[in-house]
Amino acid sequence: MTARPSEAPIGVIGVGYVGLVTGVCFATLGHHVVCMDIDEAKIALLRSGGVPIYEPGLAELMADARARLTFTTSAVELFDACRTLFVAVDTPPSPSGDADLTRIDAVIREVAARGGEHLLVMKSTVPVGTGDRVLAQLEAAGLEGIGYASNPEFLREGAAVDDVLHPDRIVIGAFDAADGDAVAALYEGVDAPVVRTTVPSAEMIKYASNAFLATKISFINEIANVCEHVGADVRTVAYGMGLDRRIGPSFLQAGIGYGGSCFPKDVQALKQLAGNSGYHFQLLNAVIEVNHLQKRLVVAKLKRRLGTLRGKRVALLGLTFKPHTDDLREAASIVLAARLLAEGAEVAACDPMVAPGGHPLFPGVEIVGGALDAVESADAVVLVTEWPEYVGLDWREVKGAMRGAHLIDGRNVLDVYAVRAAGLSYDGVGVDGAALRPVDAAER
Ligand code: NAD
Repeated sequence: MTARPSEAPIGVIGVGYVGLVTGVCFATLGHHVVCMDIDEAKIALLRSGGVPIYEPGLAELMADARARLTFTTSAVELFDACRTLFVAVDTPPSPSGDADLTRIDAVIREVAARGGEHLLVMKSTVPVGTGDRVLAQLEAAGLEGIGYASNPEFLREGAAVDDVLHPDRIVIGAFDAADGDAVAALYEGVDAPVVRTTVPSAEMIKYASNAFLATKISFINEIANVCEHVGADVRTVAYGMGLDRRIGPSFLQAGIGYGGSCFPKDVQALKQLAGNSGYHFQLLNAVIEVNHLQKRLVVAKLKRRLGTLRGKRVALLGLTFKPHTDDLREAASIVLAARLLAEGAEVAACDPMVAPGGHPLFPGVEIVGGALDAVESADAVVLVTEWPEYVGLDWREVKGAMRGAHLIDGRNVLDVYAVRAAGLSYDGVGVDGAALRPVDAAER
């Protein structure tokens, strides 16, 4: 898979999960890429060949494309070398729920101060209208030579490399067709439909996609909660629904809710964006509310099994917001651990990506090196993140190390019969424990 290399190197501003994977993938396609970040430690690590994030396959691709990658903290070096600048800085939630655009603004100030001929390509997720706002800022500063395009990113952490090299679609919104053509040309060699549109539509495609996926998750979680009351099994229900091609099987896995750096903030930001324009996006309120409650239902289930949680020891298996990433942003584990501690429980936890000891996101939680250490003397264990090493645990060994005998499968992925055969009680999400029946392999 190779592209025709651009004449000038491609610039990437912000070398995080999106920026680094984007830069490395463009280098893999044959382009020269200059990656710039204000984080000196991160750039020093990258220069020495280290990779600051865990993303399957990334380190190998980076090593192969090393000769075409430059890492710098110098805006001067970046602007001198590159005409096209992909912006991939973080846009975290602000206290109001709107996207915080201070890092974008810092980049625009830098561009305005330096001038020149550049094409800014927005990869960061920004509210609809940001492109118009940036263009107005640039024009007010007399910088008509700077073009702007929106090229939102849809990668999933844990599968980011594959998602960037084999995307479902490439979305490009531009004010000027030639700028859109220039962005599209960089993706030559990537086999995917290209959606060419306006900047606001491109910005909205990103928000609407994430909000729809979050809605699917909250919907199946609501169905799961009803299943628990009526004796149905959400795993079979989701399987039966997903066979309908109008619905599809993905994102119908009931569990303890969505987390991560994108869904919570993007759903909230779309809700605020609608509100700011005078529209009350009611559906998203429910999506958000269901997601909040879903994590707390785990605590209610533990109480049903254990009575008071005061003095009880609970082990959490997994802390990252999903497997195959080291990202802890908005992970369900953060709320869960805090709620359990507030109920008076002792909490032990483990995660392949989190070093033993204390962690600022988990004050009061004893983080240990492995699952068997975490479950030692525990009254109950909760599978929080479906890392393969936890899904494949020997449950007899787990039960042997525990003081109690309760397990909550927060992701509905465990073999119920193996868990029960080990002498543990099993509670899934939307799975009627009393009426459990074998689930066909195809349904998992
Ligand atoms: P991140 O926090 O991992 O990385 C952002 C990087 O930008 C950091 O390294 C930071 O030091 C750097 N930075 C901040 N200000 C800068 C500046 N002025 N100049 C240079 N560098 C600067 O963020 P991320 O997860 O990569 O997300 C980036 C954007 O992409 C966000 O808008 C996010 O919503 C969007 N997005 C993220 C994902 C994902 O799965 N992480 C997927 C799709 C879209």
